[in-house]
Amino acid sequence: MKKHNFYAGPSILPEFTIKNTSEAILNFADMDLSIMEVSHRSKQFVAVMDEATSLFKELLDIPKGYSVLFLGGGASTQFAMVPFNILNKKAAYLNTGAWAKKAIKEAKLFGEVDVVASSEDKNFNYIPKNYTVPQDADYFHITTNNTIYGTEIRKDLEVGIPLVADMSSDIFSRKIDVSKYAIIYGGAQKNLAPAGVTFVIIKDDILGKVDRKIPTMLNYQTHIDKESMFNTPPCLPIFAALQTLKWLKANGGIEAMEKINIEKAGILYDEIDRNPLFKGTVNKEDRSIMNICFIMNDGYEEFESEFFEFASSKGMVGIKGHRSVGGFRASTYNAMPKSSIELLVETMKEFEIMKL
Ligand SMILES: *Cc1c(COP(=O)(O)O)cnc(C)c1O
Repeated sequence: MKKHNFYAGPSILPEFTIKNTSEAILNFADMDLSIMEVSHRSKQFVAVMDEATSLFKELLDIPKGYSVLFLGGGASTQFAMVPFNILNKKAAYLNTGAWAKKAIKEAKLFGEVDVVASSEDKNFNYIPKNYTVPQDADYFHITTNNTIYGTEIRKDLEVGIPLVADMSSDIFSRKIDVSKYAIIYGGAQKNLAPAGVTFVIIKDDILGKVDRKIPTMLNYQTHIDKESMFNTPPCLPIFAALQTLKWLKANGGIEAMEKINIEKAGILYDEIDRNPLFKGTVNKEDRSIMNICFIMNDGYEEFESEFFEFASSKGMVGIKGHRSVGGFRASTYNAMPKSSIELLVETMKEFEIMKL
């Protein structure tokens, strides 16, 4: 029996994705070859790339004037690629966690960085509000979902300057208005595909405004011009991403996904708030619907490792919290069935009866 997979990333993928990808590993597009051993310039793979790009645009309702890229290097390379390509003098950043801090560190290599607000004072357990974004900055960078801490910015901000978002762990989980953003990027291994491919949604006219020279591979324009085929793209993860995109479409698209995600997260948060053994770690209004963090309540800390064992005896994996938060983190990405969350909730209830 398959485990109930609560890992934060790489993480759960739809069975549809896993099955179709494993079939293509054996025989891709009836070529009698594995997808791992065919040219990325073959017409069969070019068709995969084209379909993945167009479905990506369709599902997110991406307006004209934007490109979708599939690159290597992970979201971490984007931390540098963004400022390399669009930071002229000054950029503004919101510091909401470890990933935001890494992005800030890279941006400082390219210009002045104004960190407009930070939630580090409370171990990133909330999203800062009521800050001012300097209107003379080239862009404002946010991390919409803070995978480690379980906070999320679930609305599209209006900031008056180009908005750049790391959406590694909440892309396709909720409806977004892409026209509000200049760049959206993320590693695919949280909600889309196996590790190895990074998606970038980029407004074409944001480019060409910096004076510095940009290495070919780190220049977005290269990949826009060559439709992500300047060099060999991560073919297998892109194929898998296409399967997930097809699965999303067949299951009602993003609107349906968002509805289920809110319901799923609600079931678990309700239990965290009800069960006297546990408590949530973040500000309620900033709670993520993708990564749900909780700890043992005051006085019950000693039960932590026992609860892990109890949950793993029921086939649940990956609920250990990140070391900087401790406790538990249940990642409830799109592919996570409601039944796995219900099992976790039942397990929490049983544990309460055992202990209290
Ligand atoms: C996982 C994660 C990253 C890092 O992604 P890589 O692809 O491993 O570089 C960056 N930002 C967020 C929000 C993440 O969750």
